[in-house]
Amino acid sequence: MGQTIGVLATRQIAVGVVEDNALRGPVRIFPEAGENPEELRTMTADEMAERIGEQVLLAAREGNVGSVGVGFPGVIRNGIVEEAPNLQQMKGSAFATAISGVLARGGLKVPVLILNDADAVAAGVAATRGHLEKLIRIWYLGDGVGFGRYPQAEGVWEGGHMVVSLDPKEHYCGCGGVGHLEGIVGYRAMRLRFLDMEPEEVFAAARTGDARCSNFVKHWHRALAAGSANSIHLDGPGKFFLTGPNSRFVDLGLVAQYIHEMVKMTPLQGSLFEVISTSHDLAIIGAAVNARRAAGTE
Ligand SMILES: [Zn+2]
Repeated sequence: MGQTIGVLATRQIAVGVVEDNALRGPVRIFPEAGENPEELRTMTADEMAERIGEQVLLAAREGNVGSVGVGFPGVIRNGIVEEAPNLQQMKGSAFATAISGVLARGGLKVPVLILNDADAVAAGVAATRGHLEKLIRIWYLGDGVGFGRYPQAEGVWEGGHMVVSLDPKEHYCGCGGVGHLEGIVGYRAMRLRFLDMEPEEVFAAARTGDARCSNFVKHWHRALAAGSANSIHLDGPGKFFLTGPNSRFVDLGLVAQYIHEMVKMTPLQGSLFEVISTSHDLAIIGAAVNARRAAGTE
């Protein structure tokens, strides 16, 4: 099995060489600590492709690289960034073609796969836990809510924007949609809902019995369970991994209780939830694993 290069492009560009479902050597990070952290935010799509291409070429110097996978936050289809809420300038970019062009100029002619970053994390979890034959889903709980699925499938899969409430007052989602999972569970949405408290304070107050906060914490877990139950009713039961900075708020017992109330058909029961820590490494490995599968070289 040859090498694949995995990339995660979010606030930074992180690049690693992957072989046998594991990283080979150190992960390259751009911009490095101490450099301008806002640099990526102000780049055009072409500049971003150029920076990613440069880092991939540096990482590829010594290996025998067969394909490149790039995880990126947004709606990605057929190599095109259709929607990128956090990097608006990327919207509509034919990003795979742009990166391929940079690599080809540097002498590396290999297929490039662009995929949603949460899908990359799901593939990384599957690869590092020996679950490449299973259905793996992840919820990335951060400012927004990312949904990742392995194996990758045709479609949009914006699970974070599933409608989990019919209350028209539930309008805090970053996309502007009403009743969305992210509008309840996302960090940004929680700050809009509790203008006088930070989300950390809300969860802490709930533990000491504050009624408003403990009602919200139940609502938060019910929303997460509802999104998962919707996925179970469409895609079947299985393992869900919860990751991202806000997975620290998750009470697995509450999620299990609400799932039990929401999923009653016998063949759909038996889903499991696990909280895992976040790292660049999982997304880099997963981007590479999906790129290799897409290139059909395994
Ligand atoms: Zn939304």
